Amino acid sequence: MKLGIDLGGTKIEIIALDDNGSELLRRRVATPQGDYAATLQSIVGLVHTAEAELGQRGTLGIGTPGTISKATGLLKNSNSVHLNGKPVLQDLEALLKREVKISNDANCFALSEATDGAASGAPVVFGVILGTGVGAGIVVNGKVLAGPNGIAGEWGHNPLPWPMAEELPGPVCYCGQQGCIETFVSGPGMAKLHQRETGEALSTDVIVVRAAEGDKACELSLQHYENRLARSLAHVINILDPDVIVLGGGISNIERLYTHVPQLWSRWVFSDRVDTRLVKNKFGDSSGVRGAAWL
Ligand SMILES: [Zn+2]
Repeated sequence: MKLGIDLGGTKIEIIALDDNGSELLRRRVATPQGDYAATLQSIVGLVHTAEAELGQRGTLGIGTPGTISKATGLLKNSNSVHLNGKPVLQDLEALLKREVKISNDANCFALSEATDGAASGAPVVFGVILGTGVGAGIVVNGKVLAGPNGIAGEWGHNPLPWPMAEELPGPVCYCGQQGCIETFVSGPGMAKLHQRETGEALSTDVIVVRAAEGDKACELSLQHYENRLARSLAHVINILDPDVIVLGGGISNIERLYTHVPQLWSRWVFSDRVDTRLVKNKFGDSSGVRGAAWL
């Protein structure tokens, strides 16, 4: 049995999968706010309860928006800031008396979709979460490619490639740079650029609905978005040449992306033809916790 935990800022979720990926159990609790010891105890409690209920012991993987620093062994970059700088891995291994694997939520998403999701069986998978931010992970032959810095795949803070004059220098990003891919292709990025062009403050959902109804300004914003996403992904294809790119996050529900973006990206991909497939995720928001179980 494989246990996966999604450790988020507001909730901690556990899933138990059998070897075929069938879900045996799923539970969630609220994340104790600002309390490291209580957070560890919540995780231990979820694991023990699941194992008692199912009558078997499992392997354990944890997905969290953060990375274990190879240099220090401590968690870094988590949005649950009270976990940063703490020996989460060592403490959990001691409490649960087993090996524990930790990876960030974008890696878990990519692993879930590469294992038995929308990219099942593909040798090289680039999984992208397009939501309030932009995260991405790489899976090669069924394994997460981590890298010495723990950031493989994180291209959201690279600059938007092949920029047009009006895209320079680009929006200011929280990371300290300007014109990052994230500022153009995240959900808030799309909404802000639409507002800058038209003066209208609309959510991405409304922009998509209005474009489908024939609203010219919304249609233009979506076309700009598709063009920017195509350039951003062409950049990845030129370096990684993945078999499949899987989209997750709220933006992945925009169905036209899967036909329009591949029609656009060959203009920037350095190849006479592009066989990379762009697909929608299979497991949606469940991919984080499922991927943790597969770690
Ligand atoms: Zn940035």
